[in-house]
Amino acid sequence: MEINKLTISALHEGFLKKDFSALEVAKKYLEQIQAKDKDISAFLTITEDLALSQAKEVDKLISEKKEIPVLAGVPCAVKDNILVEGIKCTAGSKILENYTAPYDATVIKKLKREGAVILGKTNLDEFAMGSSTENSAFKITKNPCDLSRVPGGSSGGSAAAVAAEECCYALGSDTNGSIRAPASFCGIVGFKPTYGAVSRYGLIAFGSSLDQIGPLTKTVEDAKIIFDVISGKDELDSTSVKPKASNFKCQVSDIRIGIPKEYFIKGIDPDVEAAVKKAINLIEKEGAKVEEISLPHTKYALAVYYIIAPAEASANLARYDGIKYGLSKNKKDDLLDVYLESRGKGFGPEVKRRIILGTYSLSSGYYDAYYKKAQQVRGLIKKDFEEAFKKIDLIFSPVCPTPAFKIGEKIKDPFSMYLTDILTSAASLAGLPGISVPCGKSQNLPIGLHIFGNCFEDNKILETASFIERLISL
Ligand code: GLN
Repeated sequence: MEINKLTISALHEGFLKKDFSALEVAKKYLEQIQAKDKDISAFLTITEDLALSQAKEVDKLISEKKEIPVLAGVPCAVKDNILVEGIKCTAGSKILENYTAPYDATVIKKLKREGAVILGKTNLDEFAMGSSTENSAFKITKNPCDLSRVPGGSSGGSAAAVAAEECCYALGSDTNGSIRAPASFCGIVGFKPTYGAVSRYGLIAFGSSLDQIGPLTKTVEDAKIIFDVISGKDELDSTSVKPKASNFKCQVSDIRIGIPKEYFIKGIDPDVEAAVKKAINLIEKEGAKVEEISLPHTKYALAVYYIIAPAEASANLARYDGIKYGLSKNKKDDLLDVYLESRGKGFGPEVKRRIILGTYSLSSGYYDAYYKKAQQVRGLIKKDFEEAFKKIDLIFSPVCPTPAFKIGEKIKDPFSMYLTDILTSAASLAGLPGISVPCGKSQNLPIGLHIFGNCFEDNKILETASFIERLISL
């Protein structure tokens, strides 16, 4: 039996049947990290002691014949912008290189309560800004399907760790595609819940009106298991909400699927388009109703995102001034020098670009022309979806216009990098939940199908994704 290939429920059953212990499973994964991560570079920190002690606790429960939750003993990895108490948390940035998390993020508290085994922290684009994980200040993560290519970003470390079987599942964060895009590039499942469905407490902030934590997994079933554990209202995050009770069961003949014509345009790789259309045909043959829809303000979504996200980032990143956290340079000189030196040496080029963009669009004189206008157009984008969801349940599209690109191909041209996010921007701005499910390949490179739906219809997406995952595997 290949332990590293097992899903969450298969591991759970194995523990109950005593096929293996939690300690054995944790060690298997740590060995896999040892063997593979030299090439993949998915991890920034490996928390071997923590993992082994957590696994031993689970084994103790099993030996005492106590009931164990489904996640108990299942090894996971955590994106390095989510706080795990006592463990370094860098957000992929020099400015937090020596920062140790003083508390657990709410999602981590919840996972720990379920007996999770935490193997380590994964690489990311600095402060989650990027689409390739090349913006990390520490290393470039490689795509396990082809080491000359990027794993996608910004949760590229988490996606690569799952795809390389270095962990059973991972947590990532998605501001505009950062869970779904790397999942699609690495051939795994990535689920971005509705904005507010999962607490952001303990997630290092990037764009606070967009950020959302979610799972990267081998299967849709695993994504649902994690979502059920980490979602829910949290007093420590005022934007989190209690989930709607859902007993949605996928009756395929009742599902109405919208195919937005704005998402199948010039620039989409022909293999990507063909794989997504094939998946749509499969579900249509099973009885789902498929119709073309129009989301007319889609064309503004990328531009709106790249005004709003940097604006929020510039406010959030003001706290890294060399006084409160991490890197503090030039302590002897005057205060302004401390700020300038710390921020100048601590932030990488993409983060500086975002801060400059953000402060510009928030400055008086430009606020109305850029930031306010962007918020107004965001409203129109949301309205497009509200109209669409009056007649359809879910929307299908590609996650990214192309499969994984080569390392170095786009890093010198920020605009072409930003274009990677073109198909996830509108849904992210509207706070919608969405999932990437593997739906085919272009040569060796995986392609992701994006299924997204109305706010708080997370379960409808997960049920349908699970149905289509089965269809595709047949
Ligand atoms: N690629 C997008 C950006 O660079 C989104 C990143 C994310 O979702 N965290 O802003």
